[in-house]
Amino acid sequence: MTNVSPSSSPLDWTSLPTGQHRHRFGNATLGFDAWIWRGAPGPVLLVNGATHGDEYEGPTLLRQWIDTWNPTDLRGTVILVPVLNEAAFGARQRFHPVDGENLARAFPGTGDGSSTSQLAHLFDTKVLAHATHYVDLHSGGLALELHPWVGYIVGGGTERNATQRAMAACFDSFWCWAGPFLPGRTLSAAFTRKVAAIYTECRGAGGVLPEDLAALNRGLQNLLIELGCVTGPKPTLADQPFHQSIEAEETHLQAHHPAPHAGTFEPLVELRDTVEATAKLGSVQPDDGGPSTAIYAETGGTIVLRRYEPAVQSGDALFVIVPL
Ligand SMILES: [Zn+2]
Repeated sequence: MTNVSPSSSPLDWTSLPTGQHRHRFGNATLGFDAWIWRGAPGPVLLVNGATHGDEYEGPTLLRQWIDTWNPTDLRGTVILVPVLNEAAFGARQRFHPVDGENLARAFPGTGDGSSTSQLAHLFDTKVLAHATHYVDLHSGGLALELHPWVGYIVGGGTERNATQRAMAACFDSFWCWAGPFLPGRTLSAAFTRKVAAIYTECRGAGGVLPEDLAALNRGLQNLLIELGCVTGPKPTLADQPFHQSIEAEETHLQAHHPAPHAGTFEPLVELRDTVEATAKLGSVQPDDGGPSTAIYAETGGTIVLRRYEPAVQSGDALFVIVPL
């Protein structure tokens, strides 16, 4: 770290000199730390983890980069925010511990709303507004396990679609899921600002898989070369399974196979299994000892999300199936 900036957001960080900087946006209770590498004029790549506080892959990856990355020929600016949602991360839970809100539904936020809304507004106006390319690192967290993917929003025009597809292709260990605009997300804010944006979803399942970290690491290295931020041989990328959803509801993970009541979830199928429509996927046993309720597949396809935590509340998503 050649230059540490301890001040907070009024600083115009976009005029920072060449080198590495640490900058806190916001204040001690509502804000986040960013590590900024300034190089020659070029793209501005923003990457963050822990939009949800129970997702550890992004923070782990970005902290490793902060500890080790020392580019000598950087073109452009790279901004890493390992933990965007500090309050939720500190509480080891998905949502903000005080207002209970989901940061991934709060964008673009407001300057005088709830803590979550103010955080969305701070990130959107102070950081995302200055980015040209954006990556939001998610995972299944403590409650879900996912067949890892990389995704983006379509509809921003041919050029942005192509840029986002190329960004997603860099994360070639993952399958790719394109879908329509959904409000409230970090990517929705990026979409509105015409920033090329992708998100990744790692396994989760209560931990951090080494292969997921390796996949993210490779993806970020590939992306820096793809954007021309660093020089290096163009990597040979593996073909990705690709699915584009037409209906926004299909990409709304919380809307599928909801638990019919509270109880204990018992799955019968594994992540990545291929199932037929109406296949029995599992059941929920009510805590009062009554009969269990079977869960049947809404559609045929591959299981890309499976509930990991056995204890469920009514309405918790148990499975998502995508035709891959
Ligand atoms: Zn998430």
